[in-house]
Amino acid sequence: MAKGARGASALILLAALGLSACSSTTTTEATSAEGLSIVATTTMLGNVVGDLAACAGGTVTTLIPGGADPHDFSPSSKQVASLVRADIVIANGLDLEGGLVDALNSAQADGARVYEVAPHISPEEFAGSTTPDPHFWFDMSRMADAVELIGAQLATVGTDKYRDCALDQAAEIRAAETQVKATLNSVPVDKRVLVTDHDAFGYFAKAYGYSIAGAVIPSGTTLAEPSTASLAALAKTIKAEGVTAIFANTNAPKALATAVAGEVGYPVEVVDLYVDSLGASGSGAESYIGYMQSNAQRITEALKG
Ligand SMILES: [Zn+2]
Repeated sequence: MAKGARGASALILLAALGLSACSSTTTTEATSAEGLSIVATTTMLGNVVGDLAACAGGTVTTLIPGGADPHDFSPSSKQVASLVRADIVIANGLDLEGGLVDALNSAQADGARVYEVAPHISPEEFAGSTTPDPHFWFDMSRMADAVELIGAQLATVGTDKYRDCALDQAAEIRAAETQVKATLNSVPVDKRVLVTDHDAFGYFAKAYGYSIAGAVIPSGTTLAEPSTASLAALAKTIKAEGVTAIFANTNAPKALATAVAGEVGYPVEVVDLYVDSLGASGSGAESYIGYMQSNAQRITEALKG
């Protein structure tokens, strides 16, 4: 718990009411929900929830470090304990955080409040499957909706300010999406074809009018291993569709993507995208909006040729 922040909030309230700090009998109940201690799982959620806390108060700890793969992240025992201590845990859900499922379940059994947002944004299924796709944040409009839902959840344990701040932040994301769309729309329609690291771009493709020719790891998680046959088939598809770029993952090895590119028979560029983690500080992709803008820029530059 952010005891210091709570104390400070109480003082601010007392000052606002024109009461002296000596009126110690004044209940602090009204402000006890301020200064929430929040844990977010992914860097994308950590960033948007961090902005909410900057606006409405509270502290946010992001569990999965920048550059780490949410599909493959296992928490330390200290991190598991932090889930129970937090006022609320904001998780992506839909099995994105595969290595956190047990920890989140046992934290909930121990009384932790966990809000998984992805199930609430009308999730899509992976192509050709009935499994819901957790990568919703690649559609900025859904992320804006998610921010509003998270704000409403935080308001149930904190103040209404979280809800108000979420509305402003969602509006900011929707405005940034207009720019991202303009960037992506500058790619000629017949070149809007993606080959990616794993099946993470379904929402992106649907939202921004792109199609997906395939993925190096033909799975919704990075944990699957592609077969030689699937890699050969991907190279064939790339050639048949005249694709000129494979989008790899800044945080994963590029050997497979490079090998596929080498099989196509004409030059195919391997371009890094920020996939399931924001970029490092100073990369321009360290905020959620910057991450989406960086990816849109990279895709546009690669496909416009
Ligand atoms: Zn993923």
